[in-house]
Amino acid sequence: MRTPPMKIVVLSGGVGGARFLSGLLAAKAPDDEITVIGNTADDIWLFGMRVCPDLDTVMYTLGNGIDPERRWGRTDETWNAKEELGAYGEETWFGLGDRDLATHLIRTKLLHEGVGLAEITARLCERWQPGVRLLPMTEQEVETHIGVDGADGIDTIHFQEYWIRLGAKVPVRELEFRGAEAAKAGPGVIDAIHGADLVILPPSNPIVSIGAILSVDEVAEAVRTTKAPVVGVSPIIGTAAVRGMADQLLEGLGIEISAGAVARHLGARSTGGVLDAWLVDTSDEAAVVSIEEAGIRAKAVPLYMNDDATTAQLARDTLAFA
Ligand code: GDP
Ligand code: CA
Repeated sequence: MRTPPMKIVVLSGGVGGARFLSGLLAAKAPDDEITVIGNTADDIWLFGMRVCPDLDTVMYTLGNGIDPERRWGRTDETWNAKEELGAYGEETWFGLGDRDLATHLIRTKLLHEGVGLAEITARLCERWQPGVRLLPMTEQEVETHIGVDGADGIDTIHFQEYWIRLGAKVPVRELEFRGAEAAKAGPGVIDAIHGADLVILPPSNPIVSIGAILSVDEVAEAVRTTKAPVVGVSPIIGTAAVRGMADQLLEGLGIEISAGAVARHLGARSTGGVLDAWLVDTSDEAAVVSIEEAGIRAKAVPLYMNDDATTAQLARDTLAFA
């Protein structure tokens, strides 16, 4: 028996979301269409260029251009420009590879010509053919800023400075999605969410990826009101983020580091949140009952995306649960 093609919308950050998406592409039926709403609140101006790390991670990962070890940036990358910048005494904490630079230069050139970020992303994707429609969450500038302890009071720094230059090693005192209040959903975003048969929140950072996308009111409202079920996959297994440094952020915001606490933070749609269902790892099976008590359907399946097979299986489990 054939089921009709599904329209699947995925709200994605960078590495975790992109990895899940690679599994979803393997798991979906041939005619199913995937639209990705990409986080742009990690974006930053560097040396006059607009850099969009999460959009690029999704595009390069699904387009087979990603460095497989680092999981961000390009394969066969060289760092000559970065070294030269350092020789001029410029700060080089942000990894700008020579190949990667071409993407940022084209994006910036088109922005200066007045082309919108959605159209620019579509043009970049013509080369990479990621197999999904990749839409920026907004075309306005929204940037995550983090308040950290300064010499006298709180210093507010760009998320990338906190994450990369400081290695997320200092306590988070405040978090702001700067520009979110005035931001509109990007072209196509609201129609995609309302037209979806299924909305997935992949195992992306719940605060600075999923939370950032939902900081655009129109987007959050669409997720809250779409007729499609909304299913999330926990990025937390046990008491830690699987990879990366999401734990420090959760801690700083006073959210317990557990799959259940993140589910309750995102909230049940029946109580004004964004989730109908939440997948936790088999090792977190004990959390299922309390998540369901919060009005969110929950199930335990293996959540480690160790290789292509486990990643595709997680995507199949997500589709089956939905
Ligand atoms: P970023 O923008 O590059 O930080 O990437 P995302 O926000 O999309 O994803 C980061 C999250 O992915 C982290 O919080 C990790 O806990 C999560 N993650 C990474 N690998 C895995 C995995 O194998 N399984 C699960 N469940 N989560 C993962
Ligand atoms: Ca990111």
